[in-house]
Amino acid sequence: MDQAEISRVDAEHIWHPYGALPATTEPLVVSSASGVHLELADGRSVVDGMSSWWAAIHGYRHPRLDAAAAVQMGRMSHVMFGGLTHEPAARLAQLLIELTPEPLQKVFFCDSGSVSVEVAVKMALQYWRSRGESRRTRLLTWRGGYHGDTFTPMSVCDPDGGMHSMWSTVLAQQVFVDAPPADHRPEYVATLEAAVREHRDELAAVIVEPVVQGAGGMRFHDPAYLPALRDICDRHGVLLIFDEIATGFGRTGTLFAADAAQVAPDIMCVGKALTGGYMTLAATLCTSHLAEVISAGEAGGLAHGPTFMANPLACAVAVAAIELLLETPWAARVAEIGKGLADGLAPLRDLGGVVDVRVHGAIGVVELDRPVDMSAATAAAIDAGAWLRPFRNLVYTMPPFICTPDDVATIVRGISAAVRATLRETSS
Ligand code: PLP
Repeated sequence: MDQAEISRVDAEHIWHPYGALPATTEPLVVSSASGVHLELADGRSVVDGMSSWWAAIHGYRHPRLDAAAAVQMGRMSHVMFGGLTHEPAARLAQLLIELTPEPLQKVFFCDSGSVSVEVAVKMALQYWRSRGESRRTRLLTWRGGYHGDTFTPMSVCDPDGGMHSMWSTVLAQQVFVDAPPADHRPEYVATLEAAVREHRDELAAVIVEPVVQGAGGMRFHDPAYLPALRDICDRHGVLLIFDEIATGFGRTGTLFAADAAQVAPDIMCVGKALTGGYMTLAATLCTSHLAEVISAGEAGGLAHGPTFMANPLACAVAVAAIELLLETPWAARVAEIGKGLADGLAPLRDLGGVVDVRVHGAIGVVELDRPVDMSAATAAAIDAGAWLRPFRNLVYTMPPFICTPDDVATIVRGISAAVRATLRETSS
């Protein structure tokens, strides 16, 4: 197919994330990807400042990951997980148990982050049901969060004008508390505790994105809120779920964001970078205590079992991606990328219309006082050599960890161009 034909079929027939059909925007055609670069069909090559939505931490076509996929493909690419098991799943489970906080010992493999959040919530609800407390079905969460696009995750996404607010009447009604401020404030902890105390008899769990709220607004908070939250949950007998789908595998500078505060949740979701962004795979981990209680309940086990559970190809690539991460000086690279972003983005603070510039780990964010002009911003970034996908009033990057200082400089130029293009287009 030539480029024009791909674009025609796409525009007429294929849904894109949050897109309209017939399409109102024209996605760029990508013909291949390698290292940190996306090769566009029109011949341009751009540095991927998004790591394919925060997943491709090792870049594209990494020889180790390509080889892991090829070797596993030669054995079996998929086999059902009901009644069968395999080495890739066993090896990946071992690795995850080793790397995540010690109490997390049991692993459920599924095929996307949203489903791993569904499973986390099901674990929490089944746990309370097995304990004879089936009225405990609600979740408490922070405003401004994002946990995925299926119905349960949507119910704990930002309720105020967020992506899913149109569903408010059909979603389960959850309990929302303001997101933590960036710095640590004891009065905020008191507010959080009051909300948990008030609703504890109906709460199954508290679910939060530790340290970084991602797609809900790219906000960062002090890790010190996490031990406080753990303590509140323990004292009021409520389960704690950490959604580390965006933050897991080094993005914030520690292997998992909650490691910065040495806090263990009862349930934890991982995805995205789990396979280095190669395959669609996610996992939900829980404690032995939860597994025992759930398994002793009326269903005799956890009532979930998708067709592509523990896909061997994805598990094999995930094992290779994690081993690769651990063999590389990832923490130093994340710190170096963070420094490059902080130094490079700082001058944007002086532009009228820029509200905030913030960097945490390998995440750089420029917040504007107005919505980003998507087409002008994206085109300007590409002209500067970078692929970016801003949203709302945020131009941001979560680049691959293999970025060199030059790649980071290209991304910074892209962000600067995208910001300036928006300010120019919206100034009159
Ligand atoms: N949770 C968090 C924190 C996320 O950032 C995302 C995706 O951006 C999800 C859940 C949903 O994951 P997926 O898009 O794989 O369903």
